[in-house]
Amino acid sequence: MIWEQELAALKENGLYRQLQSVETLNGNGQALVNGQKMLMFASNNYLGLAQDQRVIEASIQATERFGTGSTGSQLTTGHSIIHEKLETKLAQFKQTEAAILLNTGYMANMAALTTIVGKGDLILSDEGNHASIIDGCRLSRAETVIYSHADLDDLEMKLQSNRGFKRTLIVTDGVFSMDGDIAPLPGIVDLAERYGALIMVDDAHATGVLGKDGRGTSEHFGLKGKVDIEMGTLSKAIGAEGGFLAGSRSLIDFILNKARPFIFSTALSPGIVAGALAAVEIIMTEPERREHLQCMSRRLYEELISLGYTVTGGETPILGIICGKPEQATLLSKDLHKYGIYAPAIRPPTVPIGTSRIRLTLMAQHQEPHIDHVICAFKAIISNDRDNREMTVPIG
Ligand SMILES: *Cc1c(COP(=O)(O)O)cnc(C)c1O
Repeated sequence: MIWEQELAALKENGLYRQLQSVETLNGNGQALVNGQKMLMFASNNYLGLAQDQRVIEASIQATERFGTGSTGSQLTTGHSIIHEKLETKLAQFKQTEAAILLNTGYMANMAALTTIVGKGDLILSDEGNHASIIDGCRLSRAETVIYSHADLDDLEMKLQSNRGFKRTLIVTDGVFSMDGDIAPLPGIVDLAERYGALIMVDDAHATGVLGKDGRGTSEHFGLKGKVDIEMGTLSKAIGAEGGFLAGSRSLIDFILNKARPFIFSTALSPGIVAGALAAVEIIMTEPERREHLQCMSRRLYEELISLGYTVTGGETPILGIICGKPEQATLLSKDLHKYGIYAPAIRPPTVPIGTSRIRLTLMAQHQEPHIDHVICAFKAIISNDRDNREMTVPIG
């Protein structure tokens, strides 16, 4: 069978993927991975809200009141008062006129890109953008031109040499999911103004994390109101599941009327929506989670650099430890595993060829001893000290 040959080729090239069974433990930064207790450094639950008791309570209460399923798409029977409350809250959080819920961040990107642009339009997309943006661009039927990662000169050159389209949209991740770096939004805003382009920012990793109040990339740069469409997910710092788009009232209304991922899919379940609502309220009132996260991530970044690792990020809870070949990344991941640290290898096509890596993500539950432990492990590994096995996972 053709797929069996392809699977064999994936194994041959170190690109075969397998599921791990993961069970989160009490929100203390640890998890059971295939039954083994490990320190979790691979979760997008940045603020720890997926295990926050207030979020869990809100979710249980809504499930008891409304049931497990939403029973229909938002335009038929799926839009309850808590869906409406969450949309209003998200608009308030993002400081936009309106917001709309989609079932995943993936679908939110699909919904935006297939609605705002189409045949005869131009999309300029950063080469480091998330797969859901890439797929959204393809499905939109707009002409898509990729510019070099975070490269404003290349973006300008491509704006200059691609004129005559009806509409132009620049789309970028706010925080890049694999490198953990931040998009050069001030320069993008400037170029968009000069060339009459719209801007869309995917804030999947920035929502709840960047900016004084966690509102995302535009708040981080003091550019609130300059981004036409802000996308976010409920599945990362918000600790639930689902996605959303925030922007002007008319744009959100247009998406409601046109976007197929919105129209033709059952709305999020009430329990999830209520959990997300409670989480957004916490994000808006508890900045200390963000500050703690930033301190730890800064420290880990600096220590790994000084140990001689090539590390990307540093300003966000995502750190990329670049290894090169897929096998090297897999080996480092296995070594970390021996020290009780769960941080999987990220390989092509998720990242460009030659940049296979370990992606470490921090969470607000991590404490200094956890970071100490990670630094010790990387130190031992780089000095090839493979006999140093006495380290155990500290109980947080
Ligand atoms: C995770 C992610 C998404 C998809 O969000 P889901 O809610 O998981 O579907 C979109 N964009 C980026 C940059 C992401 O990291």
